[in-house]
Amino acid sequence: MKVIEAINLNKTFVNGKEESHVLKDINLTIQKGEFVSIMGPSGSGKSTLLYLLGGLDKPTGGSVMLEDTNLGTIKHKEMSKLRRSKIGFVFQFYNLVPNLTVEDNILLPVILDGENPKKYEKKLADILDTIGLSDKRKLTPRELSGGQQQRVAIARALVFDPDIIFLDEPIGNLDSKTGKEIMQLFQKINIKYNKTLIQVTHSSKSAKYGTSIIRLVDGQIVEHVDVCDEDVVTVTA
Ligand code: ADP
Ligand code: MG
Repeated sequence: MKVIEAINLNKTFVNGKEESHVLKDINLTIQKGEFVSIMGPSGSGKSTLLYLLGGLDKPTGGSVMLEDTNLGTIKHKEMSKLRRSKIGFVFQFYNLVPNLTVEDNILLPVILDGENPKKYEKKLADILDTIGLSDKRKLTPRELSGGQQQRVAIARALVFDPDIIFLDEPIGNLDSKTGKEIMQLFQKINIKYNKTLIQVTHSSKSAKYGTSIIRLVDGQIVEHVDVCDEDVVTVTA
């Protein structure tokens, strides 16, 4: 089943008299359960593409369909609803609130949404178990390592049980051992929980945890290939 489709997608940024055409006629389809890695040189438009696919920004041409919804024309209120139920984001620099505990950081989307966090106690316990931080729930981010902080950010992205999780260089700030552990966690989320994952990455090693690779050069897709079975890094947990 198709979850995301970009059709003749274009993005131009205008700063004063300067125009930069960052994404050029992007066409791509992502199926449910795929784990796609977007690779390419710095400045090639990877983050811009990710944000458009996840509805954080709007195209200047063409469209992004999330299932049957056109993200370019959707109303603000509907977008908030969609973001809540369907989409999770994780960034390179965890973006945690420093004076909140691990559990309050994870429940932040629930609290901001005006819901009673008590209703999420079971969910919170399950997520803490998934990310392996059940014993750290009362600590604050500064008491955690970088990898543990990223796990909290991943947990926060999972709290509303989204179908698709967008990751912008999620291990870009971590050492290689910790990065590997986080990639294994994403693979578990992809396979065990059947979530669609889309990551921007510089690392071809981390791309091999996924199912396909998109290569972007100067705002155009030059390749969209499956990760060969023999190349896939398989984790048996
Ligand atoms: P990547 O993630 O591949 O490094 P980006 O998508 O962040 O690249 O950026 C691609 C190009 O678009 C860069 O030249 C960048 O300067 C430009 N760009 C990104 N966001 C904006 C913006 N909000 N306003 C103007 N230019 C932008
Ligand atoms: Mg980027």
